Amino acid sequence: MHAYHSSSYYEDPTADMSQKGWLGADLVFDIDADHFDLPCQKEHDKWWCRNCDEEGTGHHPEICKCGKAQFETETWLCERCLQAAKYETQKLLDILITDFGVDIEHLITNFSGNRGYHVHVHSEMFKPLDQNSRREIVDYIMGTGLEAEYQGFSRRNRGPRSTFAEGGWRGRTGRAIYDYLSAASEKEIKSLKLGRNATSNILNSRDQILDTLVTKHPSNVIPLIDPKSLDKLLYEALKLQASEIDTVVTTDIHRLIRMPNTLHGKTGWQVQTIPYGQLPSYDPLMKSVIIRGDPVTLEFRRAPKIKILDTLYGPYDEEEATLPTEAALFYLCKKGARVKR
Ligand SMILES: [Zn+2]
Ligand SMILES: [Zn+2]
Repeated sequence: MHAYHSSSYYEDPTADMSQKGWLGADLVFDIDADHFDLPCQKEHDKWWCRNCDEEGTGHHPEICKCGKAQFETETWLCERCLQAAKYETQKLLDILITDFGVDIEHLITNFSGNRGYHVHVHSEMFKPLDQNSRREIVDYIMGTGLEAEYQGFSRRNRGPRSTFAEGGWRGRTGRAIYDYLSAASEKEIKSLKLGRNATSNILNSRDQILDTLVTKHPSNVIPLIDPKSLDKLLYEALKLQASEIDTVVTTDIHRLIRMPNTLHGKTGWQVQTIPYGQLPSYDPLMKSVIIRGDPVTLEFRRAPKIKILDTLYGPYDEEEATLPTEAALFYLCKKGARVKR
């Protein structure tokens, strides 16, 4: 059902763990839609408490009303989850290439077979990095702890030129705020609870602010948006540029990672390597569904809808249905149904 390989290199890989002799590890990233907050998850994911009657949709709370944190979950996926995971992966690849100078030849992008993507960097440059160094890389990619003041948005730090096209987070922060402001509705901007002047300036002089971001040094935004409000705005806007990676996976230097070309036991789909440049047009619901065949009759418990090979199936609720193998396998692997005897 599940096949993995280590991302580490050892002097003696078959020895006992303590005797293996760690030589280094590839830098690996896991992007899993399960970690995102998406509206579609309220439609297809469920949780219930093992201790009381409480239940709900989407992600379970940290602690239940009864005070315990023992939950059962049923997580599914849909086209929107996969699209969101792909978008995060593209941002990650962009940061790795433009900010870290990773050679495209050293990058491998795999569809995980379930809700996301894995990115591997096979490079001598990253191999020896310890956990702390990998943690720094994670913080950089996620934009953790960035403050507008240190990205040029400071009156003390006035420069002659726009930083919009600059590399690294200096350029990204300006572009993030630009993208956020050009798309945000009045309601979204008000919900940020910025300073009163900042809010009215954004709503009344939006074009001027956008133009300033592109053509002038970021310090010129300060008279319109005070520093405190800018930090709040940046925190929201960062999500458009940062990549939502699983921090645990990247900082683990002994990580097991799913093997390419194997099938994922929770979907029946193939883990596939996507050549660089083909990610934008890659559709896992067409390409990774490699076991196809005759119709099978299933008895469903409860299962949400999903589009596989361009055909929409479900939702199902305590019913029987006959589906081609490619769709039946998915529901069976997800344990939403069983084969009718
Ligand atoms: Zn409970
Ligand atoms: Zn979804």
